[in-house]
Amino acid sequence: MEVQERLNEVVSRIRISEKAAHRPEQAVALVAVSKTFDADAIRPVIAAGQRVFGENRVQEAQGKWPSLRLETPDIELHLIGPLQSNKAADAVALFDVIETIDREKIARAVSAEMKRQGRNLRLYVQVNTGLEPQKAGIAPEEAVAFVNLCRGDLAMNIEGLMCIPPVDENPGPHFALLAKLAATCGLDKLSMGMSGDFETAIAFGATSVRVGSAIFGSR
Ligand SMILES: *Cc1c(COP(=O)(O)O)cnc(C)c1O
Repeated sequence: MEVQERLNEVVSRIRISEKAAHRPEQAVALVAVSKTFDADAIRPVIAAGQRVFGENRVQEAQGKWPSLRLETPDIELHLIGPLQSNKAADAVALFDVIETIDREKIARAVSAEMKRQGRNLRLYVQVNTGLEPQKAGIAPEEAVAFVNLCRGDLAMNIEGLMCIPPVDENPGPHFALLAKLAATCGLDKLSMGMSGDFETAIAFGATSVRVGSAIFGSR
């Protein structure tokens, strides 16, 4: 199958899942995850009409997106991988959305950089719903206080919550927990669901799904 066909297939599965979950059409945005794929692999997906993309490394994204954006200015770029504070300046300059705000140090660094650069990014707090030691994200029991700190003291534009459930578990309870935490915070955006589980995530209220391999092929 060509990459355009796989993209169309993913989009139609999203539309079917929205309908099945009694969600409005286009309630769910597709973030096409292009990590590890080069500009030549990404261009056909842009040509097919996709505009929202996710990358997990700042440096890798810097290598391909500035030129792709010259060709197609209305690209929306999401950082979906862990951010180090020494990369905050580069991340704020390049991305439109950072989905991985997960600790005070990085929140302060991103907040300071947005002020310095005069940029106001849309931001998500990443929650480590499975409390996995190797995984980024704030602990669920600290999430509400952390969101309040970001929105209050740091005046950040926190739009929603993001999670990556443990690979070996049923994702449903993780998606449900993220939805519950977001409701407690008064946030209505949920970034959850990847190639293997985006239909489940939509059933649990995802407003964006991050899909890589189902579009671009295996990495
Ligand atoms: C790689 C990645 C994805 C996409 O994963 P696929 O299984 O290829 O769809 C989604 N979210 C994050 C945070 C990722 O790093």
